[in-house]
Amino acid sequence: MIETLPLYYDGKSQAAPSGSTLFTLNAPATGQPYAQVPLCGADTVDQVVRSAQAAFPGWRDTPAVERARVLFRYRQILEGEADALARLVSHDHGKTLADAKGEVQRGIEVVEFACGMPTLLQGDAANDVARGIDCRTLRQPLGVCAGIVPFNFPVMVPMWMFPVAIAAGNVFVLKPSERVPRAGLRLAELFREAGLPPGVFNIVHGAREAVDALIAHPAVRAVSFVGSEPVARDVYRKAALQGKRVQALSGAKNHLVVMPDADLNKTVEGIMGGAYGSAGERCMAVSVVVAVGEAADPLVAKLRETAAALKVGPGEAPESEMGPLISAEHKARVTGYIEKGAAQKAQLVLDGRQHPRASGPGNFVGATLFDRVTPEMTLYREEIFGPVLSVVRAKTLAEAIGLVNANPFGNGAAIFTSSGAAARQFQHEVSAGMVGINVSVPVPLAFFPFSGWKNSFFGDLHATGKDGVQFYTETKVVTSRWFSGEAGAGKNMTIALR
Ligand code: NAD
Repeated sequence: MIETLPLYYDGKSQAAPSGSTLFTLNAPATGQPYAQVPLCGADTVDQVVRSAQAAFPGWRDTPAVERARVLFRYRQILEGEADALARLVSHDHGKTLADAKGEVQRGIEVVEFACGMPTLLQGDAANDVARGIDCRTLRQPLGVCAGIVPFNFPVMVPMWMFPVAIAAGNVFVLKPSERVPRAGLRLAELFREAGLPPGVFNIVHGAREAVDALIAHPAVRAVSFVGSEPVARDVYRKAALQGKRVQALSGAKNHLVVMPDADLNKTVEGIMGGAYGSAGERCMAVSVVVAVGEAADPLVAKLRETAAALKVGPGEAPESEMGPLISAEHKARVTGYIEKGAAQKAQLVLDGRQHPRASGPGNFVGATLFDRVTPEMTLYREEIFGPVLSVVRAKTLAEAIGLVNANPFGNGAAIFTSSGAAARQFQHEVSAGMVGINVSVPVPLAFFPFSGWKNSFFGDLHATGKDGVQFYTETKVVTSRWFSGEAGAGKNMTIALR
């Protein structure tokens, strides 16, 4: 018997209603089933949202410094549990232990940022905006906030959201990806250990039906979504139509431009981590390398040699450098793109379908490299979300920047060069929210916003940093006047005493 996962609300794990549809989870490295997750509908979502709603007044009125103390304790507990959390992520998602540890660390950093909430919530004040009149802003929490997250970062992506929202005085309902729901449950239990009152952080499982119910629920004030582009667009539209605050982080097709003067070894090292880290299942993965001028030939040769030597195996095995994909369906989708790329006459330099692991159990695909990819190919146009790297050749930096800017996505973009002038031109002209200069995966730390552009983001305020604080709070402006002097004071007093 494999376990059926509980929901989490009212401060404890609770079974889903009997008769719920169950979704079976298989370990990506072996294909073996290990748990089932209930896919909840509107009634269960309503029950969980109500639990959160009931907890809101108490948590909102808890002084920000006291809320922050719970976050400080949470940070300490997470630090002690980091290895266990990373092992869980590695098992359920498939990524290597090193990648999973990195993800947990990034999540903890958001908690550290959220510990500063008493300062982050401070408003502005101006005395004597008119004679005897003062003005100040208050930053107040919204109420019930919902988070809907993808499979690829079971710890880090939820933690972009709930620590900031909760530290700001909100209550939160998380809907983890139905493909990796265990990490969210563990995060909730650890938050309770830190002293979080019941109802402040809650978990409901499910897929589309649960998401639609969360968006439609009248008590949900704000929706944070991270996932694929069609769903992000849909969630943004539906939530905005209902007058909710919404931020929807979406898909990507990240380019890395290599200039002829780039350091070859450092560039290849950066591309290996960027393209094949987490088996390419990252919204900031490098999926296109634009090789400028004579950079191309030596770069492709070295990429081939290094990628072919990557050790592919179960994420939990210490020697593995690349793990399996999340599911057999996703593996079929990724190998489908390799097939299409070859059929459309891109040059297949390294074929991950031929890796010995690719024919065994688990969802393995080896590192794949295509050269001479052109913008009309399916391989170039669509997000693959697997270990498949395309090299496009460009004559000049201007042509390379033109390619990046013509792409409908704009999450990350990077340049490798030793020229300050080229780097400066790139950072100034490129249309992407996160730009790397000799940094292949330019993910900002928690005190900066995580900000995609174009079709990589729908909304106004991004995740984390000051944007995150603004997203989870609303501003009230208080204008005050106090009467003084004989006439005014006496008159008011008389009224008050009657
Ligand atoms: P997904 O869109 O399939 O799922 C994301 C979430 O939406 C899940 O919780 C899922 O249950 C829910 N969902 C799925 N279909 C839905 C529907 N029709 N209606 C309502 N909800 C639905 O994404 P995924 O495959 O889990 O994750 C991979 C995607 O996420 C990639 O496109 C990747 O680029 C993106 N991503 C983006 C960022 C970013 O910061 N921009 C970060 C991580 C992942």
